[in-house]
Amino acid sequence: MQSAVQLAAESGFHPPVLSPEGRQYTIADRQSISKYFLMLYCSAARHPADGNPEGANRDRTEYVWLDEFCLSHPESTSESEIESQRSTELGRLANIFRNATQVAVFCDRPGCRHTDLDCPWGNRIWTIPEILHAERVLRMTRESTHATRIYPTSGRAFREEIQKSAAKLNQWHLYAIYQHSVNSGGVSWQTAIHSLVVEAIRRDEAGNFDDHKYLGKALNGLLPRRAHVDDLGHGGWNDLAWLLELNQGFYNAASLAALCSLPDKSSVSWLGKPINPMPGNERLEPIVTALPVSPPNANSSAGCPPLMIIGGEMIGLRPRLRRDWAGLYNNPDMIRARVIAGGTLALGVLLSFVLLVTGQIFPAIGIFFSVTVGHVLLELVVSTMFLERKGWIFLPDAEWGDLNTIEQLLGQELKPWGMNVKS
Ligand SMILES: [Zn+2]
Repeated sequence: MQSAVQLAAESGFHPPVLSPEGRQYTIADRQSISKYFLMLYCSAARHPADGNPEGANRDRTEYVWLDEFCLSHPESTSESEIESQRSTELGRLANIFRNATQVAVFCDRPGCRHTDLDCPWGNRIWTIPEILHAERVLRMTRESTHATRIYPTSGRAFREEIQKSAAKLNQWHLYAIYQHSVNSGGVSWQTAIHSLVVEAIRRDEAGNFDDHKYLGKALNGLLPRRAHVDDLGHGGWNDLAWLLELNQGFYNAASLAALCSLPDKSSVSWLGKPINPMPGNERLEPIVTALPVSPPNANSSAGCPPLMIIGGEMIGLRPRLRRDWAGLYNNPDMIRARVIAGGTLALGVLLSFVLLVTGQIFPAIGIFFSVTVGHVLLELVVSTMFLERKGWIFLPDAEWGDLNTIEQLLGQELKPWGMNVKS
């Protein structure tokens, strides 16, 4: 909406402006902004960039979907009635855009291709359902002359460009979303759903929509099973919990619960803001299976869908890393030392046994103690060189932080997952 206002203003229109108190746009404001944007689109479509064959034919009919006009009945005039209709229809947005012939993408930044991660268009929650299944994309790009031009491209090529941008910035959850949309066999539904949910929550937070009112509706239609729009509208978190319950055959919600903080206001006590996506944490493997179950009163947003955990087990969790006392035996690097030490020990014990049998007690005892003590000392020295690799350990963020900090603390370079991917 802000980009549309900016574009319309710079093109000579006079869209409504927000007062300094920061009031919300009214429905009438939003509709007039959409009208300005429609004029802008028509103006740009009359002068298409090279490669847009439709642009040559000015005498044509185009049906355009604009949320502000199409999500409610045209005869509705009451603001509350329009809001109610819009709220319900937003749950169908992914299906609506899935059937669009082409989707126009725009922002107010000059020369923007809309595929970089800092493009304002790409940081709205609703652009996920709008673009994920688009067959054809019209890039509306503001030129330096303030004219807006349209550059058509295939939806696949557009999403692959975003995928590439995501890889450059190590945004692997975003990479997974677009990889799944262009090559669905390459990413499991578990990873794709997880990435979608985390990205939707992240965008909502970035837009200061802290109540996450439309979280479930924005994702409806993007997961394998969709919810009926009448079953949504019980609060964003509850709607999301219902969607995840419907998709329990495709998604293990333990992945999400493991990443989410406890919420401040949400009625879903296990589902709060997730930790920021980092390389690696989008591929955590849950050790239990979990699924949300319906709230006690499905008609109320006051319900609290609990998380049912299946196959739970007790695991020992250590507070810190530990030296591997069996480092001599557990590490391939030590195989030569292990063979030499084992051979020396066996020979020493055999020699001391032979000396004992032949009556040379003191030399036998001396050799026996020397080789066994020497072997134990070697085990001790090697154990200081390696860490235990089995078991579970708690690494607090404050102490371990990001990969660079971990590398400094461990004294060796780590290779994060996905760093070798080239695109
Ligand atoms: Zn842009």
